[in-house]
Amino acid sequence: MFHSVGSIKNNDCLTLAGMRVSVKNFNDQMKYISENYNTIHLRDLFLWQSGINKIPSRPCVISFDDGLSDVYNNAVPILRQYRLKATLFIIGNSLVNEKPSWLHEIYEILDSFSLSSCIDVFKHIIPSFRQNMEVNKESVRRGIKEYFLSLDRLTRLRLLRNIKNEYGGKLIRKPIYFMNAEQIIELSSMGFEIGSHSFYHERLSTLSLNKINEELKKSKIIIEESINTRCESFSYPYGGYSSFDDRVVGSLKRNGYYCACSTIDGVNYRNTNKFKLRRWFVKDKPVNYLTSKFGELKKPRNRLRSMVKYIAKKGLQYE
Ligand SMILES: [Zn+2]
Repeated sequence: MFHSVGSIKNNDCLTLAGMRVSVKNFNDQMKYISENYNTIHLRDLFLWQSGINKIPSRPCVISFDDGLSDVYNNAVPILRQYRLKATLFIIGNSLVNEKPSWLHEIYEILDSFSLSSCIDVFKHIIPSFRQNMEVNKESVRRGIKEYFLSLDRLTRLRLLRNIKNEYGGKLIRKPIYFMNAEQIIELSSMGFEIGSHSFYHERLSTLSLNKINEELKKSKIIIEESINTRCESFSYPYGGYSSFDDRVVGSLKRNGYYCACSTIDGVNYRNTNKFKLRRWFVKDKPVNYLTSKFGELKKPRNRLRSMVKYIAKKGLQYE
């Protein structure tokens, strides 16, 4: 699982909260996958799980959440160079409005300041942030994200506008935009699978059932109308255990989705729940990090070890 592929500056505070992979590392990782694995779409995985089709040996799904424009600019040429398949999860609203989401705006604001300036900015804006005694990059990021997630969408957007009014202009680096509708249509016509990542990128488990249905239905309709192809795969925004529940899974099934990816760490087998598919969060690290992760899969006894690790990690969440 990837989010963003682009340049990483040494003075970045949080570099999109650790979700960006440099072009060099991404290229090396994709070269390794092309030489050692057969990429498939997520759709192929659930059809195989359902006994409908076969998949090649050493299968691997490459997925991207959020549909950020740097994936179109930096990752897609590399994927095409190595003839790799990939599944891209798009936020429905980005098809009508390619402006960045509140979360990515916050990440880019954080990236625009030094750590101490970030803390000053958010202490000023959020009174409760003063109580956060443990101050490091991770605690700042988590504190801000959790605070914003606790707000309803309109309050959140109002607060973000206040931050931008007060600290915008010279201090805030331009946030990353989503891919536009033309780019998404182009990727679909190139053969990439386009899945849904909801409509507004809300934490679905916190919404009413009506709102959940709306998120899933609206995003599916707008994606399918845009690319003229069925959208059957889904990726939960935020993706951890707390981001989905039985109501969300029920709504996915009713709305014609056949599978959903979490951000829970792990690999998938034939009997893995199709609505709790696991993924690896690929980090900005040299390719030997990826080779050692894949290497662990080759040893059967490591299945038990990774199961223990998986249980130990329960509750760990990524975006
Ligand atoms: Zn996301």
